[in-house]
Amino acid sequence: MNDFLKRAWAEVHLDRAEKNLRILTGLLDTEHTKPVCVVKANAYGHGDAELMKLYQGMGIGFFAVSNINEGIKLRENGCSGDIIVLSWSPSDKGSMAAIHSNNLIQAAVSYEHALEMSANSPGEIRVHVKLDTGMGRVGLNAFDTGECAETVKKISEMKNLKAEGIFTHFAAADSLSKDKTDYTGEQKRRFSEVVRKCEDLGVTFIHRHFTNSAGAIIHKDNASTLARLGITLYGLTPEISLPLPEGLQPVMDFKACVSQVKTIHKGQSVSYGRTFIAERDTKVATIPAGYADGYPRLLSGRSEVLVKGRRAKVIGRICMDQMMIDVTDIPGVKMGDICTLIGRDGGETVTADEIAEICGTIGYEIVSGISSRVPRVYY
Ligand SMILES: *Cc1c(COP(=O)(O)O)cnc(C)c1O
Repeated sequence: MNDFLKRAWAEVHLDRAEKNLRILTGLLDTEHTKPVCVVKANAYGHGDAELMKLYQGMGIGFFAVSNINEGIKLRENGCSGDIIVLSWSPSDKGSMAAIHSNNLIQAAVSYEHALEMSANSPGEIRVHVKLDTGMGRVGLNAFDTGECAETVKKISEMKNLKAEGIFTHFAAADSLSKDKTDYTGEQKRRFSEVVRKCEDLGVTFIHRHFTNSAGAIIHKDNASTLARLGITLYGLTPEISLPLPEGLQPVMDFKACVSQVKTIHKGQSVSYGRTFIAERDTKVATIPAGYADGYPRLLSGRSEVLVKGRRAKVIGRICMDQMMIDVTDIPGVKMGDICTLIGRDGGETVTADEIAEICGTIGYEIVSGISSRVPRVYY
């Protein structure tokens, strides 16, 4: 038994990741729209260096991250493609030197941001101008398209900035309801109007992009020269009601061993606060993983894990480092048996999307929240 098999670990299945990317690329009109692999937040918890190497080996030339440090890490691990930093980054001299020396493409999120980057950069850096067409987060206000185009032009003329791209982000692309799809349509219209007005002012871009995972599935559009694929690469859905394309599979399984099995009598309780009181003699298995490993405490008494191909209820409060399950009806469970917190065992499957729904959140938060003390094992 390997060391990592003694407690809790995450299995990252690169074969599934490879298949997911092939399926998603197959949905794009790749003559017009090139895939960008979004590997921010340690590739949504899956391991950014390893996933980048896989995707690069498959011919991917674009990656996206959320900050400079994530970009530097990709370079240190041999990434030779374009790396877009999608979010605002500090524009002090040190940060600009890092962007410059690592050949990162930085989002320019406002006029002030661009101005300070221009002033502090040691040489030419590549930027993609970010437009706020309705997300309300970062970007140049694109509601007045004429004024916005004028500002984009000013940014494109700033010293040290090479404005190669322009992009925006959808707020509600993951919903099929009419009001949401109309809203996405409005965002697209604002975006293309600004791009057209920029062209009228003589400012053109190599890359004009707005597609994310949800966009790639339900708002496919050749006008986006890049598709920024995130959550679907990892086999999860942007929104629980949105069916995933056929064949996509979750890439990560989260497993742990049973640390102890005991029988408690009717009336005895389990864990902090005594929220679980046995109504019958109950066989309890303890698992050495808890909320500090990224298994949310909100799942206390609500979720199920897999043991011997069967579902077992989580009972009592989930602790920082341990949790308990009811295995009364599963014969033969003993110390060292493998429990599947996320993944498949026999005919049963628990997905990150399933436990996210119990917590009232999304799969993104579950997988990116599996903490760094959980070793990743690659297959
Ligand atoms: C995270 C992110 C994406 C990827 O989104 P998914 O829903 O995971 O596909 C795309 N674009 C931007 C700007 C992002 O921040």
